[in-house]
Amino acid sequence: MTTGMAVETVRGRAGLAEKAAAWKAAGLSVGLVPTMGALHRGHLSLVERLARHVDRVVVSIFVNPTQFGPNEDFASYPRDEARDLALLSATPAALVYLPEAAEIYGAGDATRIRVAGIADDLEGRERPGHFEGVATVVCKLLNHSRADAAIFGEKDYQQLLVIRRMVADLGMPCDIYGAPIVREPDGLAASSRNAYLTTGQRAIAVRLPQTLRELAARAEEGEPIDRLAGEGVARLLAAGFDRVDYLSFRDAETLAPIATLSQPSRLLAVARLGRTRLLDNLALGPALKG
Ligand code: AMP
Repeated sequence: MTTGMAVETVRGRAGLAEKAAAWKAAGLSVGLVPTMGALHRGHLSLVERLARHVDRVVVSIFVNPTQFGPNEDFASYPRDEARDLALLSATPAALVYLPEAAEIYGAGDATRIRVAGIADDLEGRERPGHFEGVATVVCKLLNHSRADAAIFGEKDYQQLLVIRRMVADLGMPCDIYGAPIVREPDGLAASSRNAYLTTGQRAIAVRLPQTLRELAARAEEGEPIDRLAGEGVARLLAAGFDRVDYLSFRDAETLAPIATLSQPSRLLAVARLGRTRLLDNLALGPALKG
């Protein structure tokens, strides 16, 4: 924790707009880091990175009900505002936006944003309605904060692509940055949901990044990727995962299934331990340009 100055907070959309307008009037650019709280080093890295691109970083903390399915963990999602604010006090964040649900989904709220194509497969297939909730809330948060830029982690790789698509299609005046996955020392991707894992499950969890790294190395050496994907699923189940929602080699820009690594590619997987879904992915093939 920190002994520094407390970070400034705002709960109302009007207060946030006022603050953003004052910054803009002073010629300062504004960036947004959207989060659902239960912050960890991954989130904090986004704040640090965005601060290199904009003058004032706003962090939003909002557990967005519309991106959770009826049988998902909205009610039990970890919430600890005091801890989150203490962590943010030690970052370059200028302001934390803590909206109530009514601030985001007010009376008569009726608009949803659906991104087709890129949002339909993988997470979109496993979690129907998820990306509609994500795109809608991100659009609202960008509007509320008047953000000139926003940053999203590659941990949720498909989400980053969905947001890029939305911003391009709607002509939103906002630069979207991606940030690399921050990992625990043993390689497990940092995640708020890691808090759900028992000690036994946590020991199994590390096999996900290990398996992906090994599959990626063998794919780079030329082994057929459809066979590797099948082997990967079997290995994860043998390691103790309860289910593998998907493990798939994809085009890094379109997420279309691929047969070879001739283009920038991504290996994406979700494996479950009990009810906890662990997401991970890594880049392979030629590097993406730009
Ligand atoms: P969440 O609070 O889960 O909605 O995540 C908020 C943002 O943090 C999203 O852009 C995530 O992709 C990003 N994020 C979550 N975990 C990580 C991580 N381990 N490394 C980098 N970014 C992350």
